[in-house]
Amino acid sequence: MKAVQYRTVGGEPEVVEVPVPEPGPGQVLLKVTAAGLCHSDLAVMGWPAEQFPYALPLTLGHEGAGTVAAVGSGVTGVTEGDDVAVYGPWGCGHCRKCAEGKENCCPHAAGLGIMPPGLGSPGALAEYMVVDSPRHLVPLHGLDPAQAAPLTDAGLTPYHAIRKSLPKLVPGSTAVVIGVGGLGHLAVQLLRGLTSARVVALDVSKEKLALAQTVGAHETLRSDGEAAARIRELTGGVGAEVVLDFVGVEATLAVAAAVVAVEGDVTVVGIGGGTLAVGFGGGLPFEVSASAPYWGSRVELMEVVELARQGLVSSHVETFSIEDAPAAYARLHAGEINGRAVVLPHG
Ligand code: NAD
Ligand code: ZN
Repeated sequence: MKAVQYRTVGGEPEVVEVPVPEPGPGQVLLKVTAAGLCHSDLAVMGWPAEQFPYALPLTLGHEGAGTVAAVGSGVTGVTEGDDVAVYGPWGCGHCRKCAEGKENCCPHAAGLGIMPPGLGSPGALAEYMVVDSPRHLVPLHGLDPAQAAPLTDAGLTPYHAIRKSLPKLVPGSTAVVIGVGGLGHLAVQLLRGLTSARVVALDVSKEKLALAQTVGAHETLRSDGEAAARIRELTGGVGAEVVLDFVGVEATLAVAAAVVAVEGDVTVVGIGGGTLAVGFGGGLPFEVSASAPYWGSRVELMEVVELARQGLVSSHVETFSIEDAPAAYARLHAGEINGRAVVLPHG
């Protein structure tokens, strides 16, 4: 089968021929119907050799949807032919966090060598993939796989981030979304669908700001030196109750710190490497909570899929063949993908 692999540190992703994997006991083989390309994959492919945490070659893709093609011994709950989305942040399955469905917070996964597909384990950018357990599969109930694949990260991660701020997103509040790419364009829709907050979207690209407006942002602003002052003005000097930063560089975190309201939330999702100082004299208004969340829980993925089935959120996608996956990564790197790039391995 064809798979998109990162093979050497510093190299380009390549389409290669590899054997179709076989599901072991407890595992499920999926025929991959769609796989999303995430900016995190570019970050991974930018890490230097001495920090590189995964074995190579690595089949990429941590956003997947597929059809159950075969099950290993002992598997119950799924049947050949089921259409599913893949929950990615696999945990040990036994601890307190995993019992709550928060496998993204499992404290044992790393120590046990359990790694997400595409981020250590063979990923979804292939014609077939093995999923460690049927508990990582969420039924699509008719949702289009190309729509569903981005929900597993680009939808789930902002959903998880926004959910914890819901009590602050009351009528009259403001939410700022910095970076309206794969995650950000779904964040705007989630904010509109789940809250009555005014949504202000920031980006450096005109096309991304146009998409932000199409998917429901009330205000769109260029992410530049004027942005913080404009947001202060728009909020009558109060600031934004919630700031979601999907870039996470020093410049965007400075905007977040400058516009967050007293008692607000700054949520750093982007892995741009910037940091925010927290502490008296650190520059944040009183009572602000700052966090850097990771992915989301199993039940949250079920909820995001349900929101998409109800039509409250929809992924804006550009689809590619598996042969074109390296070119799609190059376009993502150049900032030329609006919404999410999704590979359809079987056309
Ligand atoms: P993307 O490339 O699709 O979108 C990024 C967007 O940010 C683009 O629209 C780009 O134009 C915009 N942007 C770049 N610089 C900007 C600036 N200075 N101000 C405003 N906008 C700017 O990326 P994505 O796949 O949506 O991922 C977004 C970020 O989230 C990445 O850093 C990714 O690694 C990270 N991520 C984190 C998690 C997590 O669990 N914390 C999960 C998935 C992705
Ligand atoms: Zn991702």
